[in-house]
Amino acid sequence: MKAVLIVCDGLGDRPTKTLKGLTPLQAAKAETLSRIASQGECGIMDVIAPGQPPGSDTAHLAIFGYDPYACYPGRGAFEALGVGVELQPGDVAFRCNFGTANEDGVIIDRRAGRISSEEARQLAEVLKDIRIESVSGVQAIFHHSSEHRGVLVLRGERLSRCVSDVDTHKVGVKPAVPQPLDNSPEAERTAKALREFLEKAGKILAEHPLNRERVKRGLLPANILLPRGAGTLPKIEPITRIWGIKAAAIAGGGLYKGVAKAVGFELIQVPGANGTVNTNLRGKVEAAIRALDGYDLVFLHVKATDNVSHDKNPIKKVEVIEWISRELTPLVEKVVSEGYYLAITGDHTTPSEVGEHRGDPVPLAIIGPDVRRDDVKRFDEISCARGSLCRIRGTDLMRILMNYLGRVPLFGE
Ligand code: ZN
Ligand code: ZN
Repeated sequence: MKAVLIVCDGLGDRPTKTLKGLTPLQAAKAETLSRIASQGECGIMDVIAPGQPPGSDTAHLAIFGYDPYACYPGRGAFEALGVGVELQPGDVAFRCNFGTANEDGVIIDRRAGRISSEEARQLAEVLKDIRIESVSGVQAIFHHSSEHRGVLVLRGERLSRCVSDVDTHKVGVKPAVPQPLDNSPEAERTAKALREFLEKAGKILAEHPLNRERVKRGLLPANILLPRGAGTLPKIEPITRIWGIKAAAIAGGGLYKGVAKAVGFELIQVPGANGTVNTNLRGKVEAAIRALDGYDLVFLHVKATDNVSHDKNPIKKVEVIEWISRELTPLVEKVVSEGYYLAITGDHTTPSEVGEHRGDPVPLAIIGPDVRRDDVKRFDEISCARGSLCRIRGTDLMRILMNYLGRVPLFGE
């Protein structure tokens, strides 16, 4: 028995004026989504807890069956894994921006004039030689990821993710000095190592010929690094071991690849899958169909629904939903013809008139050969609330799926 889990990011929404009081899911003509709802059991899901707006990272931990309040290790490690950095237990990883500071050290751009990947990669090269001397046994590893973004990993003994962000998302201020967030010597060591790295990086970047040349061309120099979101690998049992399954993940966005990898999914790379509305969704769906031959659980993530919600574009969200519905058709055909299971849901609600994550529940539908079919005919927030799954928590979903796969051990005798 096998299962597909599809998560459309930020899928949930609210009644929207532009759509005459309908949600984008209600307004969409989405035949395949309606087919899933009408052939299966439906419900709504509080991914973290009723009313709690989830981040995409904590939301996915919950959907994968892990209590994010117990095991959320910060965002940095997910980002690092998502861009292909191999992390070791104990590593502390940060997301970093290349930014621009003026002569007084005040941040004037958090993205260094949106420096190109090509130029940022050249700058990242020289940061690889930085040695940490003020804290014994600590090594700094810097990786460029995309455009103005990179990942910094501090590796060594007795480090902690309890250090404050340097990037406070503000311009017109000096970068924050990293501070320990608790009284542990580990946090102190980490903050000290980070301070040394940033000081050395700042000097190297300021004198780098590429930055001098950027200034001559009238461009902003990438002369500071702005780390944030310190994170470590979560201390959890991999999903493959908990349920005794082989699991594969298909996603475009780095964060989603990172969370999936951190909990034990194997990543399947799809060319052109980029976490935007221009993603190669067809390629992802084809990869998911192929993956079903070798894996028990296939996770498919689609980011576009969240992107258009943050852009406050409900009409585009309707279009994106209709596109997703069309593209999912061959995958649903495969699941139905093979007698597999499929669950589709969102990781949180991103109302397209608000443009930010909110704590409203998301719709959920599950099909499979022996799933109790309820009376719900459409896949949307309001219809699914009348379904037989009723209202569940995000951490319930994986056990529900694994129960269908016969993977949940008996409790008691
Ligand atoms: Zn999300
Ligand atoms: Zn979002």
